[in-house]
Amino acid sequence: MTFKYDFLIIGAGVAGMSYALKIARARKGRICMICKTSLEEANTSFAQGGIASVTNPELDNFDKHIQDTMIAGDFISDPRAVEQVVKRAPAQISELTNWGVNFDRKENGTFDLHREGGHSEFRILHHADDTGAEIQRGLMEAVRNNPHIEIRENHFAVEIITQHHLGVEVTRRTPDIECYGAYVLNPETQKVDTYLAKVTVICTGGCGAVYQTTTNPIIATGDGEAMVYRAKGAVKDMEFVQFHPTALFHAGETHPAFLITEAMRGYGGILRLPSGESFMEKYDKRLSLAPRDIVARAIDNEMKIHGIDHVCLDVTHKEAEETRRHFPNIYHKCLSIGIDITHEYIPVRPAAHYMCGGIQVGLNGRSSIHRLYALGECACTGLHGGNRLASNSLIEAVVYADTAAEHSLSEVGNYTFNDAIPAWNDEGTLTNEEHVLITQSIKEVGEIMSNYVGIVRSDLRLKRAWARLDLLYEETEALFKRVKANKDICELRNMINVGYLITRQAIERKECRGLHYTIDYPVHAYDKA
Ligand SMILES: Cc1cc2nc3c(=O)[nH]c(=O)nc-3n(C[C@H](O)[C@H](O)[C@H](O)COP(=O)(O)OP(=O)(O)OC[C@H]3O[C@@H](n4cnc5c(N)ncnc54)[C@H](O)[C@@H]3O)c2cc1C
Repeated sequence: MTFKYDFLIIGAGVAGMSYALKIARARKGRICMICKTSLEEANTSFAQGGIASVTNPELDNFDKHIQDTMIAGDFISDPRAVEQVVKRAPAQISELTNWGVNFDRKENGTFDLHREGGHSEFRILHHADDTGAEIQRGLMEAVRNNPHIEIRENHFAVEIITQHHLGVEVTRRTPDIECYGAYVLNPETQKVDTYLAKVTVICTGGCGAVYQTTTNPIIATGDGEAMVYRAKGAVKDMEFVQFHPTALFHAGETHPAFLITEAMRGYGGILRLPSGESFMEKYDKRLSLAPRDIVARAIDNEMKIHGIDHVCLDVTHKEAEETRRHFPNIYHKCLSIGIDITHEYIPVRPAAHYMCGGIQVGLNGRSSIHRLYALGECACTGLHGGNRLASNSLIEAVVYADTAAEHSLSEVGNYTFNDAIPAWNDEGTLTNEEHVLITQSIKEVGEIMSNYVGIVRSDLRLKRAWARLDLLYEETEALFKRVKANKDICELRNMINVGYLITRQAIERKECRGLHYTIDYPVHAYDKA
């Protein structure tokens, strides 16, 4: 079947829903927002800490937030993107609260602000320790109550549509690639439908699921980056993968692995080997309180040296009642798997957490492909540079939803539907019966990425990853041509594409910078010059 919408939004986390609400307000055409599972399931729901914005001008100001972001990004963030996000953030916080999102306030009505690692001031708005779930709840209610937004759950975008589908040769040097919508898998018919759109917006979130262990939900397979890359659009900075140092190690819980917040180290938690020996003194004078990337590297090294699959976080020296009061969620979660954290160590290990790179976009959220925008974690705006400052991602998504809405609303009148686009061709394909071909390959991608393209990299490991991924790529593309499109094979394809992009861009960066750490190039290239 063919559907026609003025605005097609792929993804329904904070980015997709904020954009949809802003477009709906303008009443400039039909809007469809799709998501590949339920509306509830998105990285957004998992965010704990909060959302960064300067809201207390007496103590804080834009320059300080800008400076903190540039330092975290290892000075390769795009200053224009940083300035845009920081300066537009307060207005977008008001927008969120107007849509019904609640942030904790003090008795006098002002926001109860937290301070997180890397922030020089208290500027993190939060809702207890489940800010993301509150944002997702508020936005879901707002979009569900909005009659101008059509929502289609369990609809999977397979490919974006360009001139390529009209038989025109499209290469990475083609200057005027245009997006005409997307091919989308219908869960009821199991057929791929054609969604023609004047404006297409990719809001597909992160790609943590390409690693063996991640704090992201299983849906985070990097579909947006992969679709745009295949369509010959620009994808950038994929080597900058943020690993959270302390995810709970518990067999079978890897997508997502439960996050043990950094606040626990701030509270006095000590990192130890399972034998009880502490180790952070070998790595940084700030010990267990060193920045995220340093702690993640230290743990990774200790696990490799000792051949162990986790280290431990110890809060047994703290007063038991205080621990239970400060960390009720963590206490109960650990208890549910038989660990009383007031008496026993918490088994932890690093997990892939956040993708700083993605689909390259300008200040208005538009990608290198005309009529195609990318917002949220799948986009590379330049804000994060080499490393993300805590709580800067949710705010980035809302600010860019705003600039993209402004820009696309001003342009949509110039576009028409491209009625020449053919239906998805699945002639000669079979229903896939050998599911093991897919599940085994997904496991292999995770192993390759975690072992060779993880926290510490080398030229040798990266080349090995490239060769292994290449083999998987050939096998999977051949399989994709033989079988009817289904969610699993499409996700596998996307994961291989994303794995390849992370690996290739890591090979190209011949320096240690931000989150990219390689034993072959120990210092920044600019320091050597
Ligand atoms: C444990 C955890 C804690 C975090 N804490 C914080 C924090 O405190 N502060 C902060 O700023 N950030 C935090 N983050 C990061 C932040 O949550 C994410 O970067 C942000 O929520 C991403 O929002 P998004 O809208 O881009 O994507 P998501 O919220 O992930 O939404 C993606 C959407 O795309 C859809 N989708 C994907 N592929 C397809 C497809 N092929 N077809 C159709 N639909 C598709 C999905 O169904 C989903 O609806 C945290 C992340 C995690 C995992």
